Amino acid sequence: MKQVYEFKDGGKEMVALLGGKGANLAEMAKINLPIPKGIIISTTACNEYFKNDKKLSSALEEEILTNIRVLEYETGKKFQSTKPLLVSVRSGAPVSMPGMMDTILNLGFNDYVAEKMLEITKDEKFVYTSYLRFVQMFSEIAKGIERKKFLNLKATDYKEQIIESKNIYKDECGEIFPENYKDQILIAVKSIFDSWNNERAILYRKLNNIDNNMGTAVVIQEMVFGNFNDKSGTGVLFTRNPSTGEDKIFGEVLLNAQGEDIVAGIRTPDNIELLKTSMPNIYNELTETVKRLEKHNRDMQDVEFTIEDSKLYILQTRNGKRTAEASLKIAMDLVKEGIITKEEAILKVEPASINKLLNGDFEEKYLKEATLLTKGLAASSGVAVGRIMFDAKRVKIREKTILVREETSPEDLQGMALAQGIVTLKGGATSHGAVVARGMGKCCVTGCSEIKIDEINKTMTVGKYTLKEGDFISVSGHTGEIFLGKIPLKENSFSDELKEFVSWASEVKRMGVRMNADTPEDVEQGKTFGAKGIGLCRTEHMFFKKDKIWTIREFILSDRGEEKEKALKKLHNLQKEDFLNIFKILDGDEANIRLLDPPVHEFLPKTLEDKKKMAEILSISLENIEKRIYRLKDENPMLGHRGCRLGVSYPELYRIQARAIVEAAYECAQKGIKVHPEIMIPFIMEAKELAYLRKEIEEEIESFFKEIGARVEYKLGTMIEIPRACLLADEIAEYADFFSFGTNDLTQMSMGLSRDDSVKFLDDYREKGIWEGEPFYSIDTKAVTKLVEIGVKNGKAAKPNLKIGICGEHGGDPKSIEFFEKNNFDYISCSPFRVPTAILAAAQSYL
Ligand code: ADP
Ligand code: MG
Ligand code: MG
Repeated sequence: MKQVYEFKDGGKEMVALLGGKGANLAEMAKINLPIPKGIIISTTACNEYFKNDKKLSSALEEEILTNIRVLEYETGKKFQSTKPLLVSVRSGAPVSMPGMMDTILNLGFNDYVAEKMLEITKDEKFVYTSYLRFVQMFSEIAKGIERKKFLNLKATDYKEQIIESKNIYKDECGEIFPENYKDQILIAVKSIFDSWNNERAILYRKLNNIDNNMGTAVVIQEMVFGNFNDKSGTGVLFTRNPSTGEDKIFGEVLLNAQGEDIVAGIRTPDNIELLKTSMPNIYNELTETVKRLEKHNRDMQDVEFTIEDSKLYILQTRNGKRTAEASLKIAMDLVKEGIITKEEAILKVEPASINKLLNGDFEEKYLKEATLLTKGLAASSGVAVGRIMFDAKRVKIREKTILVREETSPEDLQGMALAQGIVTLKGGATSHGAVVARGMGKCCVTGCSEIKIDEINKTMTVGKYTLKEGDFISVSGHTGEIFLGKIPLKENSFSDELKEFVSWASEVKRMGVRMNADTPEDVEQGKTFGAKGIGLCRTEHMFFKKDKIWTIREFILSDRGEEKEKALKKLHNLQKEDFLNIFKILDGDEANIRLLDPPVHEFLPKTLEDKKKMAEILSISLENIEKRIYRLKDENPMLGHRGCRLGVSYPELYRIQARAIVEAAYECAQKGIKVHPEIMIPFIMEAKELAYLRKEIEEEIESFFKEIGARVEYKLGTMIEIPRACLLADEIAEYADFFSFGTNDLTQMSMGLSRDDSVKFLDDYREKGIWEGEPFYSIDTKAVTKLVEIGVKNGKAAKPNLKIGICGEHGGDPKSIEFFEKNNFDYISCSPFRVPTAILAAAQSYL
């Protein structure tokens, strides 16, 4: 089995086998870009290595060395000869994991090679610093010797420093530093394989849902030297601005330096524009090359390059990580430039980034009065408000924290993921911190050199201000500004661009996307965001507004008979008016209206003042009110007298609500406004419940139709939100025109987790590795989805045309939406602000 490939054997479609870096290098070689020559050891070899107890098989060793011969032939150089070959040994997984794994530079050095290099270059400093870097990188990466061990070398002479470093190597790992290139290569390859399973790489995969079994490829590539002279350098660039999306090269360069320096964020590099003046020819060649690359790969590219003595080399390209803002702009621009299709653009934008766009900036009027502490580089857009934290390990899930670090290292990953925003004192816009933050869609400001951190006292000083850990700051990743205290965020904004993009997605998707909306204002909002129809109108929410609550209280607390009749009448009038207003705005789209659901206690007066007022309204004594309230109290309200249980006890309530709905619909129809009401009954657990309520409601509606001598079209269906209802969906479907899955309650009941209380303990579950994720946010794919599947299957078996929707929180969650698409749901429904995200997710899961 072939395990080692030459660049000419590969291409970008071979990512799984050759890793992203290797496959793209092969691809670039294919289109004749200036690439140092190299070979690639496949991910299969890596996986074999792990299966083989972390030993390189002799077959693999042989294959590597054979291919090294080929590389020597191709480059015209030979390891440890008079014309020495030096290489880098680079990691490269199928999915980009920036900075998570290792790379060793300048491999092949020993004293003999240094001597020969000196004869060729006549540059002592260049040769020995390169040699020294190799010894130290090799020690650190291949043997895990900490970098800081090399920080305070005694020798001042480079040659002496190399000897000293080799001695540290020997002291630390008990072996002599390998001088032979074959040993160097094989140990390096082994250590790069091992880096697939270093702690930070494992964590990164966990955070990004990357498969642990892919393994990494290894690229062995001829070195080119950015530290060769003043006409040399190294840099990283994005073909478009990764923060805003602007179509302008964005990047950084360090002259007379090796690549490591930039990526690690150790030295703050110069703007790429510097090349325009210092090496205009190279600048032109570079910009032309990367634009070609962008067209070829049909996406914004993140490119690493090196200039050796006025010659340009490309060392890596990949689709660049970017902010939500950039992601949208780039996708749309690429369509407008004719490079990609609309469908491709839809697939390029993360649904979650839409939410970020809708909620992305400080309120301007507060900015004017805010105290500006300092300004760094705007490395990743978005804004964040939170408490200062200096230690990445102590950032907690539910605290709003801004991580402030000298520089971030890959060990900080977990803390970065949990923080609201990230501030670093060192590093440029392409440093590790910046790249990772953009990938996470997290606001990040780098290079804040004016801030001084005092690790011991846990304070930071900037200008005349000294802030403690725990103090609030506000950070803008749009401008790089850092402000004192908390600044309020702007109301959500729906730009014309975003609107256009969402409309593209709308044309593509199959499922309907409705809104959960209870008021005319919600409906208005949802409509602008692209929702069609209401998937859930919670009639109880209509009572929570202003004085309306008293009407429902009056109904609940009144005695049966005349008192209740009176209260019902008021209720009816209020509801009818609400429905009329909503129907008018909807103008022909379906409206799913759920009859009263929550436990009655939620409506009861709680303060003495309110109780007195209630007594007055009903003209009974306070004592009497207290008694009635006591009688209505549930011991376990969530499973108490709520939903259709209320309807069964007080059918007149559901009757009057249904009547208000059809009356409003009729009035609209009279005015030529089309209406499609869907009356929804919550909390059904048994078909007979629904049969009974359906009969009651139909009776009421029919009597209304008789009164007016006309009919309006309506549908009557149920929520499926109790596990029992999923299992008996075929029986229930007989009495339902539609199902709407209430996945919040379904999750709550099938997992035995209260959605209001689980925040208190789910963090413990996550910390202890018992449970990942948030089941009320993203649907549980192990069991709750099974119940939904059974519900759909049984429901459709009884009634093939049954309309099926979902109205829980999961209706706005991209991962859950994929599941609903797969199960052929007719529509999803979510709160208005999540509608654009849901539309995009629906389009993506259909494509
Ligand atoms: P990472 O995946 O962490 O970016 P790389 O393998 O890309 O690691 O290596 C890091 C840096 O080392 C590169 O950006 C580049 O500047 C430098 N480098 C790697 N290989 C070579 C090479 N053959 N010649 C010159 N520089 C190299
Ligand atoms: Mg790289
Ligand atoms: Mg419910």
